[in-house]
Amino acid sequence: MRCLALLICSYTLFANAQSVASRPQLVVGLVVDQMRWDFLYRYAEKYTGGGFKRLLNEGYHCAYTQINYSPTYTGCGHASIYSGTVPAVHGIVGNNWYDYTEGKYVYCTADTKCNTVGSASKAGQMSPGRMQVSTITDELRLATNFRSKCIGIALKDRGSILPAGHSANAAYFYDPAEGKWVTSTYYNLSSLPEWVTQFNEQKLPEKYLQQNWNTLLPILQYWESDEDDVPYENPLPGEERPCFQHTTSRLSPAYKILLTTPYGNSFTLRFAESAILHEALGKDAYTDFLAISLSSTDYIGHNFGPNSVEIEDCYLRLDRELEQFFAFLDKHVGKGHYLLFITADHGVAHIPDYLKKKKMHGGVYESDALVKLLNDSLRMATGHDSLVLAYENMHIYFNKKRLQHFRLNESEIKQSIRRWLMQLPGVANVYDLQALCNENIPSTIKEKIVNSIYPLRSGDMYVLVKPNWFEDMPRGTTHGTVYPYDTHIPLIWYGWGVKRGTDFSEVHITDIAPTLAAMLKIQEPNGCIGKPITGLLHNLKSKK
Ligand SMILES: [Zn+2]
Repeated sequence: MRCLALLICSYTLFANAQSVASRPQLVVGLVVDQMRWDFLYRYAEKYTGGGFKRLLNEGYHCAYTQINYSPTYTGCGHASIYSGTVPAVHGIVGNNWYDYTEGKYVYCTADTKCNTVGSASKAGQMSPGRMQVSTITDELRLATNFRSKCIGIALKDRGSILPAGHSANAAYFYDPAEGKWVTSTYYNLSSLPEWVTQFNEQKLPEKYLQQNWNTLLPILQYWESDEDDVPYENPLPGEERPCFQHTTSRLSPAYKILLTTPYGNSFTLRFAESAILHEALGKDAYTDFLAISLSSTDYIGHNFGPNSVEIEDCYLRLDRELEQFFAFLDKHVGKGHYLLFITADHGVAHIPDYLKKKKMHGGVYESDALVKLLNDSLRMATGHDSLVLAYENMHIYFNKKRLQHFRLNESEIKQSIRRWLMQLPGVANVYDLQALCNENIPSTIKEKIVNSIYPLRSGDMYVLVKPNWFEDMPRGTTHGTVYPYDTHIPLIWYGWGVKRGTDFSEVHITDIAPTLAAMLKIQEPNGCIGKPITGLLHNLKSKK
């Protein structure tokens, strides 16, 4: 009997020990801005073992991770990764949109109620205020009664602010006017922390740019990429040709040019390391969260395209930077004590002129010309001017006041618009966003469009462009569509409890936050529609 009581007692103790939440010391979110999934493999022959290959060899790879909404832009991508939901719920429907409530174009993180901390410019007039939901970082703060520290870091303000969440300790981003890390008064900071000021005083941007940008390896070894000097890439400001060497020491505006060099990523990771040391991230009983986004991959990608020597060089250098960063985490947080995931906010299209050279389809159209064409045609048909307000995020926004004032029939206008646009070479279809149930659309594309509709921030019609068509980039490239080159992103989990694995089942960008919630044993964000990735969770090391 006594034996049985002891047994029950020890079982209870054991059960209690098991039920206490076991969590990593630190979660590191790494978003590589504009990283298409295949970049994990495209340059793999030249990757060292310690960067991307370490993640692939030791981590859990969700190899078919898709973005389940349109448009595939930076603001929506970062909001969706961290909130586990789509623009229709979190409200970040693009980087910019026409806002019917405010009656003007807005930028996703702009907030004139805030001021810059750390420089004299307006770069810090930012906040997450337009995001309507909580993030996984907010939920971690709530779960630990705000004892967990959450910090966002990215050169781009939106890449730092949206992941860090509403209740963040801080979000730091780059002020290209002064070449410094800054933040916003939103975070209740009256001045930069001493460690940030000291970091800025090193004046690393000057030092990086003085080195100029040459290829890491002899240029003849960049066989995965197109020729270096081609007319469809953009030269850097002040350059005549878009090719190596990029003499960054002589170009201006210098601080802005840093963004479009691999040094931008080095600068970000060095700053992240400094944050870990000086904010003592991962050092106490409460799990901390460092949300990093690497923006220079996107700037370089837009400028030179995914087949350029420049983007290859950027990824070869990033691979080596990641090796250094992971070694830093091993040393200062401890191998197995941090949980890391790497993903992207969107992919990227090939440059249309590059594709055409290889006999494939693609093209560029001008969004301003499209609005003009629509307004000119509608004036001819109705006698009234300026009925279309804007074209943004592939949405056509009507001037609703004028439509009502002149008592125009909206459905007739929509029919006319569809008829005119369908004659343009890059248009595959045009949909009525108020009546999508009546449209014949492949279900996965329809779901992406539905997931992007947020009333008063969205337009009235959606233009489905043909694959590899996009707007306003006569040279270089962009992203934003519903197609795989923009939607198929990398996702690898690494570290705390994670066992090696590769999983080709379809997961979505919105599954990342609920998976983190499951691993941390906290509530998922309040607008979450994603699901935990069960393949990963079933594969966790049993001690967790
Ligand atoms: Zn982006």
